Amino acid sequence: MSRIRDNHRVERDGGGLGRITIVNPVLIIEEDLSLATTIAAMLSERWGCQAHVARNLHEARTRLDEYGRDYASAVCDVNLPDAQNGEVVDLLMALNIPTIAIADVLDDRLREMIFKKGVADYVIKDGATSHEYIIQLIGRLHKNLGIKVLILADSLSARSTLTHMLKTQCLQTLVAADGDAALQLLSEHPDVKLAIVDYPRREPVIADYPVPELPGMDALAFTQAARERLGKDRLVIIGISASSDDGAAARFLKFGANDFIAKPFSHEELTCRIAQNLEMLEQIEGLREVANRDFLTGLHNRRFFFEHGQEIYREAMKAALPLVIAMMDIDNFKTLNDTYGHDIGDLVLKHFSHLLTQSFDKDLIGRLGGEEFVVLSSGSTLQDARARLQAFVSKVAVTPAVHDDEAIPFTVSVGLNSEPGNNLNAMLKAADDGLYRAKDAGRNRVC
Ligand code: GH3
Ligand code: MG
Ligand code: MG
Repeated sequence: MSRIRDNHRVERDGGGLGRITIVNPVLIIEEDLSLATTIAAMLSERWGCQAHVARNLHEARTRLDEYGRDYASAVCDVNLPDAQNGEVVDLLMALNIPTIAIADVLDDRLREMIFKKGVADYVIKDGATSHEYIIQLIGRLHKNLGIKVLILADSLSARSTLTHMLKTQCLQTLVAADGDAALQLLSEHPDVKLAIVDYPRREPVIADYPVPELPGMDALAFTQAARERLGKDRLVIIGISASSDDGAAARFLKFGANDFIAKPFSHEELTCRIAQNLEMLEQIEGLREVANRDFLTGLHNRRFFFEHGQEIYREAMKAALPLVIAMMDIDNFKTLNDTYGHDIGDLVLKHFSHLLTQSFDKDLIGRLGGEEFVVLSSGSTLQDARARLQAFVSKVAVTPAVHDDEAIPFTVSVGLNSEPGNNLNAMLKAADDGLYRAKDAGRNRVC
C-alpha cells in the first residue's frame, strides 16, 4: 500500500532550510481534551496547520467519513473509551493516513501489534518532551513525502521489513537485491537522498575487508561506488549489519557510509537515525541554497551562475545545441537611486528580478552584481532569444515598480550573444560589448 498521497500539500519556504507549512488538517483522536488542545496549538504554531479533535472511536468515524483522506496525518490514543485495543488505527490505515499512536503506558504486546498495522511511531505520553517529539515527527513525515530512499539488501525478508518501515515514514522506496541493480537505480533516480544498505554476515571473515562471495557487487562495494559519485552532502548512506560482525561498522564508515545500525534494531531506532540523517542533509542543502543565492533578490548569485553556467556550456557544446547569453543592465540606475532613495532602488531590483524569473523560467538567471543581470538559455535560437528579449525589454518599460501607489518607471538595456567562443567567459564578454552598444544607442533596447 503506497503512502504517497498526492492530494496533500506541503509548502516549503524559499530559504531551503526545511521550513514547511502543512496545508491539510491533522486529526487528533484523544479523550483527554487538554492534551488534544495542547497538541493542536503546537501544530498550529509550528506547522501552520489546523487540527480536528475526536474524543473517541465514534467521533473519529464521523470525522473520517467527512474528511477521509484529506487528513495530513493523525495522532491517536490507542486506548479510547470505546476502543481499547488500537481499533482506531485500522480505520486510519485503511485510509492511508500517516499515524502516530500514543499511549499512557508501554505495553509491549500492543506496541508490536500497532507497529505491524503500519503506524509511523508509538509514543508514550509523558509530558512536554513527548509533545515536542510528536510535533517534530508530524513535520518530518510531511517533509518525507516525495523523498526517495534506496534499499539494498540481498535477502527478501530484509527488503520487505525495510520497505514496510520506510513506508510508515511516508518515504518513497526503491528496492535492489544487489549492488549493480542499486547503482543502476541511483543513476535513474538522481534525486535519491538516502540509501540503506544491508550487509549480510559472510563466513568466514578472513581479512580486514571481506571478499564478496555473492555474484555481483555487495553492499560495501556499492557504498564505495555510490560515494565516489555522490558526496555526503548529496546522499546519506546508512549501513546495516549483524551486531556479531565486529568490523562491519568500521568498514561501512571507512567506505563512506554516514551512519551504521546493528541488527537486530527496533523500528524506532531505524526511523530516528533516518530522521536525524535527513535533517542533517537538509541543513546542508539549506546552507548551500543560502550560499548560492543573492540575498536581496533571491536570484542565483555570480558564483552559482558561473559554476552552473559552465556545465550548461559544456553540455550544449557536446550536444551541439544553440546557446544564447544575455547581459542586462538597468538604465540610469544611479539617477533612480538619487531621485527616490536607495530603498526604492532595492525595491526596483526586486521587482525587476521578479519580471526576469517570470519571463525566463526555463533559463539560468543570475545577478552578477549591482544592477547587472545575466540570462543563459540553452536550446533556443538567436532569433527566438532576440524576440523574447525584445518583448522583455518592452514589458519592463511598461511595468513600473510601485511604492505607496506611486509608479517608479525604469528601463533596461540588453547585450545579446550566440557565438559560443572558447568558453562561457568569452561568451559573456561579447554580450557585454553588445550591452555597451545598447547603452550608446540610447538605452532601453537589445543589441
Ligand atoms: P547606465 O544606464 O549607464 O547603466 O547608468 P547607471 O546609473 O545605471 O550605472 P552606474 O554604474 O553609474 O550606476 C549603478 C548604480 O547602482 C550605482 C550603485 O550605487 C547602484 N547600486 C548597486 N547595487 C545596488 C543595490 O543593491 N541597491 C541599490 N539601491 N543600488 C545599487
Ligand atoms: Mg551597471
Ligand atoms: Mg546601469
